[in-house]
Amino acid sequence: MAERRPASSTTLLTNIGELVTNDPGHDGSPLGLVKDAAVVVDGQKIAWVGRAADAPAADTARDLGGRAVIPGFVDSHAHLVFAGDRSAEFEARMSGSPYAAGGIRTTVAATRAATDEQLTAQVSRHVVEMRRQGTTTVEIKSGYGLTTLDEARALAIAGQFTDETTFLGAHVVPDGTSPEDYVDLVTGPMLERCAPHARWIDVFCEAGAFDADQARTILTAGKDAGLLPRIHANQLGHGPGITIACEVEAASADHCTYATDDDLANLHDAGVVATLLPGVEFSTRSPYPDGRRFVDAGVTVAIASDCNPGSCYTSSMPFCLAVAVRDMHLTPAEAIWAATAGGAQALRREDIGRLVPDARADLVVLDAPSYVHLAYRPGVPLVLDVISPGVVTTR
Ligand SMILES: [Zn+2]
Repeated sequence: MAERRPASSTTLLTNIGELVTNDPGHDGSPLGLVKDAAVVVDGQKIAWVGRAADAPAADTARDLGGRAVIPGFVDSHAHLVFAGDRSAEFEARMSGSPYAAGGIRTTVAATRAATDEQLTAQVSRHVVEMRRQGTTTVEIKSGYGLTTLDEARALAIAGQFTDETTFLGAHVVPDGTSPEDYVDLVTGPMLERCAPHARWIDVFCEAGAFDADQARTILTAGKDAGLLPRIHANQLGHGPGITIACEVEAASADHCTYATDDDLANLHDAGVVATLLPGVEFSTRSPYPDGRRFVDAGVTVAIASDCNPGSCYTSSMPFCLAVAVRDMHLTPAEAIWAATAGGAQALRREDIGRLVPDARADLVVLDAPSYVHLAYRPGVPLVLDVISPGVVTTR
């Protein structure tokens, strides 16, 4: 990974009109807002945060003209290792055909046929596209290979761009294989080959994909191999995914489009993050989950893109955040928290998603006076600059 070297000097970012820190110590709110703020960056890390009037001296200074600064977005759910185009499927869906999980097989065929170079270039293009929109950490899943070699290849490629790699061999049962044989493969030779390249293990627990027993078996095998569990849960109906997430102590249950009050209580009690993926309901014209219910039940909420060629081909966290406010009924403050600190919690990361001393210096400068503009001005490219040491931008 060609990360930038730490700078040998400190930089003062000053005249920040509104700073979102996600450190409640500043104003008592979860966002930890600081007005007329400054930040000192030392190499790859935050060295100091506070009011501009109190800022210490630094080697260089940069005046941000009263603009708002937020932590870089943490996109904790993305499927970037793929080939092919499914715009025709999208067009059909928007013309009245219902979405079904089987469309994944189209992408599997194209991904298997692609060269390593083609897949790597595709991931690079999307990571750059994400960074331009303020994303400084992205999780990348496998799941379009579905053979031992193709899944391991996808994870090796993903690992060139992020530490947050997820083995999703259990995305769908490939054609020509029985579910029983495929679960044996995913929990056996495929897991053995993929585990060294992955931090996480994931299962698409849904009718038409993997049922409760299969999901439990796969996630437990992953844990035994040293991986951390997360799960695609309750996207297309009231299924067992959230229950399994709590049972195996997953970091996050993702989608949660259909969640009962018992599901919410379980997520809260188990400390499992609910990752909402607003772009999916948008792009499949499906009913949105009510994010308000999750927040009111005390569940920790994250927002992620689910960037993938089938059900949601957006890489834009600002877009997802705006939809979460408009259609999932999060407040703008809850949505920005969910897209930064929430994503960090969904990845069990302490060093990202907030602007505090010793955190990674991932900052986004908005061409706006307040974070509220991200939802107030949907579709407008408000990300003026991205300051981050940990994101690969060119290859
Ligand atoms: Zn997904």
